[in-house]
Order: sequence, then structure tokens, then C-alpha cells
Amino acid sequence: MPEGDTIHRTATVLHRAIAGQTIAEATLRDPLFEVSAIIGQSIPRVEPRGKNVVMHLSGGGALHSHMGMTGAWHLYKPGEEWHKAPKNAVLTMRFDEWLAVCFTPKMLALLSADQLRRHDHLQGLGPDLLGPHFDVAEALRRFRAHNQLPLGEAVMQQNIVAGIGNIYKAELLFLHRLDPFSPVSAYSDEELRALLREGQKRLAHNLGGHLRQLRFAGDGQRMWAYGRSGKPCFRCGATIQIRRQGDQGRTTYWCAKCQPTRMSRDS
Ligand SMILES: [Zn+2]
Repeated sequence: MPEGDTIHRTATVLHRAIAGQTIAEATLRDPLFEVSAIIGQSIPRVEPRGKNVVMHLSGGGALHSHMGMTGAWHLYKPGEEWHKAPKNAVLTMRFDEWLAVCFTPKMLALLSADQLRRHDHLQGLGPDLLGPHFDVAEALRRFRAHNQLPLGEAVMQQNIVAGIGNIYKAELLFLHRLDPFSPVSAYSDEELRALLREGQKRLAHNLGGHLRQLRFAGDGQRMWAYGRSGKPCFRCGATIQIRRQGDQGRTTYWCAKCQPTRMSRDS
């Protein structure tokens, strides 16, 4: 699943290229919606919301896409060679100077203004770590409403805080020595706030488009825990472990020595 930094970068690049421009032509591979409805509309704004890209339409509605594990938006100049197979293009929109192509999204929908306003998932998203006014207190309140959830699951729940995927989960919890399997209730407000501030800082750092980097030792190793199962912890030398976690069985990497199990503070 793309992390918040990837979605923000995608939305920013799309916004710069196509905001204010009119959809001159559009083709849709699958009958997801009536494609003729978007032709002739312009796109005033492309907005990242959690892991979603929302392209607002001049008519008041929006194209809502969620990239899932394999989806991507690409921009091409007319005649430019594509980096993905055209058969995987689900939506192609032609603007004055650009083609915007959506490949294999997990979800792509045309929302009316009303549907956008009432959209359960979009409206239920927690504060966005990369948003212009990240609300720490609100994110903390949402964590506390899920006190029994293991922290490694809670940080990825987009209705608590938006923007953290599997990579940032592993790295942020490692950096702050927090065990992914202990419940949210095991951690103090200060610890959770510090974790959120760290997430904000780290995601923002990685917005530039270079290789995502959480570790800066100069040895080419850019991650502390993510993807390092079986290797020695850079901090203590113990073996980095891997385990599946939560309903979706997302992989979690952690150092059991640096991130020891915590007991709930309620008990
Ligand atoms: Zn360690």
C-alpha cells in the first residue's frame, strides 16, 4: 500500500500539471461510471486525502481513486512512451498538454458533490500527517478511542491518523522503541504525540521524490527495521523479527529487545 508521502507526491504532481485544465477526451476500460459525464469538465484541484487521490471536478463532483497495492497515476506528454502496459490503463484523460492515466487502481469512482460530502471513508479519515494543519490533539483522541488495539494496527488505521503505511509503521515504532503488539493503552499521551510528530517530520522529509529514507548512517542502509528480518538490529545487534499482524495480515518488522512488550497502563 502506498504510504502517505507517495500519495501526496502523486497529488501534487497531478495538481501542478492538470489543475485548471479541461478534460478534452476520456476513455474508461471498465464500466465503472458514465465516462461522458466528465468530458468537458475541468479539474480545479487535485487533493490527497489519506491514501486517496480526490480530483475535484468543475461540476461539483469528484473522481475518487484509491491506489491499493499496485495502482498508479501517470502523466504523459502526447506521443510519449508509457511506462506501464496500456492494457492496464483503467482511465485515460486527455488535457491540453497532458495525458493523465490511472493504472490498476484498487478503486476508482465518480462521486457527485453530495456523495463526496457524505462519503463514509473520506469523511471519516483521521488528521492527515501531511496536511497543512495537522491536528495532534484530534489524532490522539482517536488513538484513545481505540485503546485496546495493538499499536502496530492502530497507527495504520486511516480513521485514526491518515498517512502511515507498512514502512512508516515499522520505522516509526522502531525509532521510538514502541512495541507494535502492545495495546495503545500501554502508551502515554506524550509517547503517542512524539510518535505523531516524528511521523509528520519523516513523511515530510520524504516528499521530495528521492529514495525513501529513514536512516542516515551513510552506509546505504535506508531502513532500521522494515525489510530487515533475520538481520542484526543496528542499535542493539539482536535479530530483527517479522510477524503478520491484524486482520489484513500486514507484515511487521521489529526488534523485540529495543521494543519490549508493554503492559496496559489501565491495569
Ligand atoms: Zn534492537
